[in-house]
Amino acid sequence: MPSFVINEKCDGCKAQDRTACQYICPNDLMVLDRETNKAFNRAVDMCWECYSCVKICPTQAIEIRGYADFMPLGGVVQPLRSSDSIMWAVRFRNKVVKRFKFPIRTKPEGSIDPDAGFTTGTEDLKSPVLRTEPDSL
Ligand code: SF4
Ligand code: SF4
Repeated sequence: MPSFVINEKCDGCKAQDRTACQYICPNDLMVLDRETNKAFNRAVDMCWECYSCVKICPTQAIEIRGYADFMPLGGVVQPLRSSDSIMWAVRFRNKVVKRFKFPIRTKPEGSIDPDAGFTTGTEDLKSPVLRTEPDSL
């Protein structure tokens, strides 16, 4: 289910150079229309459905909608983040709304040691080739 921007809620991240959704999208799909100051997903069929943009949007302006072929008539999913939890609101097409709340990590941003004191013992992760290369080329 790809992401869609709700125009009425999007404030263009207050006209900053780069919006939060542009910053976070790993597939470079979010675009800001400078005339309307609204963002949009320029290729929903290319969306990885990672929901990073949905979760980072400061105004909850992005929701997840199903493709019309298997989810007609509009059900949507939308998160609401707080400092210690994330609440997912699922709105069914018959207007029933269900909410699911999950705890999120509480460590301060940037405080996690990625290696956690362990070494990999190899430089493979820094190699530009894939595992089977060059033999598979
Ligand atoms: S992060 Fe949200 S408010 Fe900011 S530009 Fe994207 S959709 Fe709009
Ligand atoms: S769900 Fe992920 S891939 Fe899709 S537009 Fe948002 S950030 Fe990009």
